[in-house]
Amino acid sequence: MSSDKSSTKKKYALITGGSRGIGKAIALELADAGYNIILNYNSNTEEANKTALLLKNKGAEVLLMPFNVSDRKQVEESIGKWISDENNVLEILVNNAGIKKDGLLIWMKDDEWDSVVDTSLKGFYLVTQQILKSMLRRRRGRIVNVVSLSGLKGMPGQTNYSAAKAAVIGATKALAQEVGKRGITVNCVAPGFISTDMTEDLDEDQLKQHIPLNRFGTAEEVAKTVAFLTSEGAGYITGEVISINGGLYT
Ligand code: NAP
Repeated sequence: MSSDKSSTKKKYALITGGSRGIGKAIALELADAGYNIILNYNSNTEEANKTALLLKNKGAEVLLMPFNVSDRKQVEESIGKWISDENNVLEILVNNAGIKKDGLLIWMKDDEWDSVVDTSLKGFYLVTQQILKSMLRRRRGRIVNVVSLSGLKGMPGQTNYSAAKAAVIGATKALAQEVGKRGITVNCVAPGFISTDMTEDLDEDQLKQHIPLNRFGTAEEVAKTVAFLTSEGAGYITGEVISINGGLYT
């Protein structure tokens, strides 16, 4: 969506997990597109402050909003409270916060299952529910959910993560049909292997042999696609999943 600078209201984009990795790159890209940024993170305030400074240097206004996306009370008391002020306008929501706790299903602990599913899936549910009424009332909005190749093809050692991301894909397709008439689009981006803190324990040299483009992707490459999906030019795309994976499908 274009950020209409003639409007007196400041238009914001909320990026959950926006302090590091892919979320940080998305925040920087959307700041370049003219949006003010609500930067959510969970606990690493130092990294969030660094990212906020980069955003301010681009001329964006930044609201640092730490909350755990899977905790209803925290979500309501932060973004829920902010959006209840009708002067606050959220144009874009990027549900990006996610974690992985890999292991074979046979050995998996409840916490490894619950925390991974709750961060991606319940996080999507809680945060989107808070902001949706405002977008419906304004009859415009863009929601982009960061899922994963794991949610499309399944990844051994990641039944929890694959289930969480596949569920968000299903929720995206359902919600897109619920809100399309009100001018709101809901889409997913599905990255493959992207160089961030999340993948620093992986052996890129070994894994890249299976990737047609022969390398891990960058957070910026994911961010460019998210920026496209939030742009005016993507106005007729909804309920879609765009893969950013260097050609890695099998
Ligand atoms: P990352 O570098 O580990 O960054 C994760 C971000 O999410 C941080 O800002 C973190 O905040 C935040 N976060 C984690 N749990 C949260 C919670 N409960 N509430 C609020 N914020 C939370 O991860 P990344 O690699 O950028 O991944 C971003 C998204 O892309 C995730 O959904 C991930 O599943 C997906 N993805 C990544 C890859 C990849 O190869 N990297 C591939 C496919 C999909 P703190 O700093 O405070 O912890």
